[in-house]
Amino acid sequence: MRAITVSPGLADSARLDDVPEPPPADGAVLVRSLALGVCGTDREILSGAYGSAPPGEPRLVLGHESLGEVEDAPEDCGLAAGDLVVGIVRRPDPVPCVACAAGEWDMCRNGRYTERGIKERNGYGAERFRLEPDFAIKVDPALGVLGVLLEPASILAKAWDHTERIGHRARAWQPKCLLVTGAGPIGLLAALMGAQRGLDVHVFDRNRGGPKEALVHDLGGSYHNDTATLTRLAPDIVMECTGSSAVIRDCLGATAAAGIVCLTGVSEPGRTVDLDIGRVNRTMVLENDTVFGVVNANRRHYEMAADALARADRGWLARLITRRVPLERWREALEHRRGDIKVIVDFVQ
Ligand code: BGC
Repeated sequence: MRAITVSPGLADSARLDDVPEPPPADGAVLVRSLALGVCGTDREILSGAYGSAPPGEPRLVLGHESLGEVEDAPEDCGLAAGDLVVGIVRRPDPVPCVACAAGEWDMCRNGRYTERGIKERNGYGAERFRLEPDFAIKVDPALGVLGVLLEPASILAKAWDHTERIGHRARAWQPKCLLVTGAGPIGLLAALMGAQRGLDVHVFDRNRGGPKEALVHDLGGSYHNDTATLTRLAPDIVMECTGSSAVIRDCLGATAAAGIVCLTGVSEPGRTVDLDIGRVNRTMVLENDTVFGVVNANRRHYEMAADALARADRGWLARLITRRVPLERWREALEHRRGDIKVIVDFVQ
């Protein structure tokens, strides 16, 4: 079967390969790929900066934003041929640490977790893949190809889950204003979930016009281009989805009192900016502010994300997928093009 493979650590080593069928050791559920989303993490792996192959193997099957159709599943596992499924990305560490032992591999304490298509486990960028039943999430068939948004949505479901847990440290927490920085797929999904919570949604992005602005307006939100928004708005919650040092700097200490800044974007080390840490610390202490990071998602978050997608307007979700590229032309999916939001490799075309 065909698969997109890469030699991690080596820039531009990706190619469409002929690889053996997925081994039964990957799980009892056999899935035929329908679509694969690509994201910044895939581009980082392609640049040679991130990722690792399964132990003893030279190449890694790329891809972690899956959508497929079950071809074969054991009886009584809750899945049957024809079901639409998405594979969970992370697997618990082998020790396991206390978090992984509790099914919260997204909070792994020792870093020995593995990730499909990213870290030591082959991914979902292949014509067929296998899943353990516990790591397969059934997708509402009515979502169709939009189910490919489930993995990125799971990251935001976790971001919202943790934000709300932090918020409720104060009994009277009643957030009203949300600022999302970055209107990529992660930022727009953060904004969608904010709108679903009835918040006053503001999205900051450098792009003017184009589909992002209209998508924010159609959520009932406001779209901002000027960096002054970051320091002027004083939101209760910031969902930081750019990973940009300057944007992060401007968000720190810029919330309303008891504000929460949730960092979701991965940045490159070495991007230094001028930061008045005296001001930031003073504001954070005197106003009970919180800044925290989130990565990955556990099964509960995938289920929350599936629920959020099921409640969203399908037409709105469909506009997030701006390009579909057939598997033969997979390379184009990883190029940055103007107007791109979520680009997917289409295994059916
Ligand atoms: C994935 C996460 C993963 C993270 C770090 C992200 O792109 O969505 O599941 O934990 O990369 O590898």
